Amino acid sequence: MCVLNTWMSVIHDVCHPRCLPSTIGVSCSGDGTDLAGYRLRKTGLFRSGLDWKGGKRDGKCGQSAIGMAASGANGALIDLRDVVKTYETGAGGVTVLKSITLKVQSGEFISVVGPSGSGKSTLLNMITGIDRPTGGEVFVGGEAVHELSENQLARWRGRTVGVIFQFFQLLPTLTIVENVMLPMDFCNVYKRRERKGQAMHLLQQVGIAEHADKLPSALSGGEQQRAAIARSLANEPPLIVADEPTGNLDTANADGVFALFEELVDRGTTVLIVTHDRGLSARTGRVLHLLDGRLHRDQNNGKH
Ligand code: ADP
Ligand code: MG
Repeated sequence: MCVLNTWMSVIHDVCHPRCLPSTIGVSCSGDGTDLAGYRLRKTGLFRSGLDWKGGKRDGKCGQSAIGMAASGANGALIDLRDVVKTYETGAGGVTVLKSITLKVQSGEFISVVGPSGSGKSTLLNMITGIDRPTGGEVFVGGEAVHELSENQLARWRGRTVGVIFQFFQLLPTLTIVENVMLPMDFCNVYKRRERKGQAMHLLQQVGIAEHADKLPSALSGGEQQRAAIARSLANEPPLIVADEPTGNLDTANADGVFALFEELVDRGTTVLIVTHDRGLSARTGRVLHLLDGRLHRDQNNGKH
């Protein structure tokens, strides 16, 4: 029963909105470049995955997240209206997002750039529901994210958003395959008996299936990132949000990660990524420039 209790406590922890992002985050790698001994074909990751696309949706999350995304307000997947975020500090209130109004259509590939402290992470946290706006409204897939309770937020996020962090945030006491299954267990997109197969398939696709039964600490950083990718893709979220996912990678790995995002976009996934790398942001369809909490420039790169 001890094992069960531990598992339940982990589930409880990761269901909390502050913790859940770590269970649904993606980190990435691989586009045909040999990365730390693994080789991923550029077209292989999402094409051969029958399990990956074929799981039956049966559980309490209800409708397909992708279907839900299509029903967004005004056709926009992300719709921010006059969003303000003020942090209370010992020295008084500090407003770090100042009336951000923004629409993102389904299928867009968007980068967010700006100096350190300009509000990029805060903006992402508004979209993922990790944090709440002080003012304004946040709609994602038609859902009024700013109005959801903590439990609703966790459930909504689990089926809607794959979040990627610079440091992959795998749960250290779970094996790699358990980490990947965790969002599935939480969201019930796949039937219980299908989950391990689906998780193994995702691990295979990111090139680390042989590490499935190891703890994260036994893997290299690059391998842990691959595990985090598989985990974030577990429930087929229509939206991937990534906060400097290449910030901890060398050039070859960063390029591989980016190629993976490009593949996701090609499949119809909407991808929003914070990056400091101008070369990478130039490869996205649209660049949002943040400056001192304001949307300073909304640049269309004429792609995607
Ligand atoms: P960026 O991601 O662009 O570097 P952030 O969104 O992390 O910027 O932060 C924007 C500003 O908000 C920074 O000045 C930061 O110090 C401040 N900030 C972020 N989180 C908090 C917090 N919890 N409390 C107070 N200030 C915060
Ligand atoms: Mg940041």
